[in-house]
Amino acid sequence: MNDTKTALVTGANKGIGFAIAHGLAALGFTVAVGARDDVRRAEAVERLRASGVDAFGVALDVTSDDSAAAAAATVARTAGRLDVLVNNAGIAGRLDGGAQDPTTLDLDVVRTVLDTNVLGVVRVTNAMLPLLRRADSPRVVNVSSNMGSLTLRTGPVMAAYAPSKSMLNSVTVQYARRLADTNVIVNACCPGYVATDFTGFNAPRTAEQGAAIAIRLATLPDDGPRGGFFDDEGVVPW
Ligand code: NDP
Repeated sequence: MNDTKTALVTGANKGIGFAIAHGLAALGFTVAVGARDDVRRAEAVERLRASGVDAFGVALDVTSDDSAAAAAATVARTAGRLDVLVNNAGIAGRLDGGAQDPTTLDLDVVRTVLDTNVLGVVRVTNAMLPLLRRADSPRVVNVSSNMGSLTLRTGPVMAAYAPSKSMLNSVTVQYARRLADTNVIVNACCPGYVATDFTGFNAPRTAEQGAAIAIRLATLPDDGPRGGFFDDEGVVPW
């Protein structure tokens, strides 16, 4: 087995995912850059390597079972191991005037958002679990949002996106319970309000700041928390 720990980050070609990939690589991980577009993926790998860290590309569209299976095969073939999976890829879904009105919601938008933000996480996690289970201290981090919090009710009304993140938090708990007697630690995080394409770069936090909590959860000690939802300040009520 390769001596270097390997981390796969989905949607790592830009935004928070790229910053998570860069941050984990700077800690010594070999980073697998999961991205669906060949050109954007190659450019991200090139940028990471140019900064002096170890990275390789993994073709991955999280909405495709075949792509997830092929991605697991690529990681196995290239790195021979997987220690960390960060499920970061996510979409807001089509917005109508900056929000998603539940009373006029296009159900196709709901389907696409759930397929990416929730089913995509299940699909990719299950494809990667056989590799993760072979690692000494495997970690899974699901990048969620406090917009999914039923308690906080932050952000605009977004009737597809916000429930997708509530469900992602719930799915995270289910994984943590199922894997409670294994060494696979699963948690979710909120990166805060981050300047990326997602927010039209109109938000106060940098991608690096947004990445910090995911990196912390990806490197938890073996007695770390399981099934939680965290931001920089600690546990987020949801
Ligand atoms: P970006 O839009 O900058 O990046 C999203 C990434 O996800 C891109 O790499 C995109 O790839 C990828 N992606 C989308 N769909 C798929 C797919 N089907 N298969 C593979 N990759 C896909 O957004 P952010 O970096 O801001 O968001 C990252 C995560 O953080 C998301 O889960 C988001 O919900 C969450 N988040 C963001 C917040 C913010 O303020 N920015 C706040 C709270 C949570 P491509 O380039 O090909 O489109």
